[in-house]
Amino acid sequence: MKVGVPKETLPGENRVALVPDVLPKLKAAGIDVLVERGAGAAASYVDAMYEEAGATLVSGDEAWTQADCVVKVQKPTVAEVGKLRAGQALIGLLSPLIDPGLMRTLAEHGVTAISLDAIPRTLSRAQTMDVLSSQANIGGYKAVLVAAEAFGRYFPLLTTAAGTAKPANVLILGIGVAGLQAIGTARRLGAVVKAYDVRPETKEQAESLGAQFVTLKTAIDATGSGGYARELTAEERAAQQAELNGVIAAMDVVITTAQVPGRKPPVLVTADAVHAMKPGSVILDMAASALGGNCELSKPGETVVSDNGVAILAPENLPATVPISASQFYARNLQALLVHLVKDGELTLNPEEEITAGVLITHGGKVVQPATAGLLEPAPAAGGASA
Ligand code: NAD
Repeated sequence: MKVGVPKETLPGENRVALVPDVLPKLKAAGIDVLVERGAGAAASYVDAMYEEAGATLVSGDEAWTQADCVVKVQKPTVAEVGKLRAGQALIGLLSPLIDPGLMRTLAEHGVTAISLDAIPRTLSRAQTMDVLSSQANIGGYKAVLVAAEAFGRYFPLLTTAAGTAKPANVLILGIGVAGLQAIGTARRLGAVVKAYDVRPETKEQAESLGAQFVTLKTAIDATGSGGYARELTAEERAAQQAELNGVIAAMDVVITTAQVPGRKPPVLVTADAVHAMKPGSVILDMAASALGGNCELSKPGETVVSDNGVAILAPENLPATVPISASQFYARNLQALLVHLVKDGELTLNPEEEITAGVLITHGGKVVQPATAGLLEPAPAAGGASA
């Protein structure tokens, strides 16, 4: 089977889907890799490294047209969908639940779409394929570095002849994969770290990394299914907000990572909370996207400075700014999935098998994943009147 690796086209996307390191394992599974010249350059994986690892370098659209399966990081653009043909497979972070219309288009093209963000994360044998975790981990690390750079003071406690620098007080809101990495990174930089989550089990995890868990007087347990949180009720939200505002006001740096699957991210830092912070404080909203974010004032992709001098950063694609490591982890995850799905050099899809059932979005001209299919309206009847 031939797997094509085209260069990513989304501005700022420096990652590449496969790195040279994983090629020998793919070869052993009967997979030949075609890499578009320059595909890994933005992540410092140069063409010669791929060639040395056994890949064939190709030009123009050949990574699309000559492959049985195209592997990407980002979902394809309209122009890229046009390069795919019936019977081909496409693997990437396709966001089927956010863009079900694209899935319908892929199905209409006869493309088998496999989405890495749909890996069943609670299955232990799928953990090596868990791209959401590997990339969130990198995002949490980089979030702290970006916040530290935007902050006008030291993170650690420093005693020098010129005086003593107090350590920065850092609050991490949301203690999932990204939040745990953010705690560890901020601690390694010497900050005093507090952390909060609505899943009580995160208390011990945060404390084991050296953070102080923020316990609110209003006890909220919003543990949902699969290790995720559920959405809070309006009452819980109000109680949480009132108490959190007091905690936030005393912080120098707040990093927010809170997400609820399938919902808008919860607002945890209101405009009022921002206005109660000291000038020079920094908020980094990792959850910000077109859907909204954890801070009421954040704008995705921008830095906003509030009237009282608080910088609110909302970087959009942090993993892509650590492209060597992010591509390496992504490629390992993808390699594990490919080896799982390929038998005797052929993509062998058994929809009864749990991992395949999770990731297989379109096949045989249809959107087959129930969650995505459920979001699509029924196709208009043939010959129906149009307005
Ligand atoms: P996520 O990105 O969905 O959310 C990040 C965090 O935000 C979560 O910890 C969540 O509880 C928190 N959050 C949501 N609403 C909040 C609110 N109103 N206030 C404060 N915090 C709020 O989560 P994630 O990082 O993708 O993963 C969540 C958890 O899933 C992980 O901690 C992990 O334990 C679990 N997980 C399990 C497996 C596995 O079992 N194999 C794999 C991956 C993740």
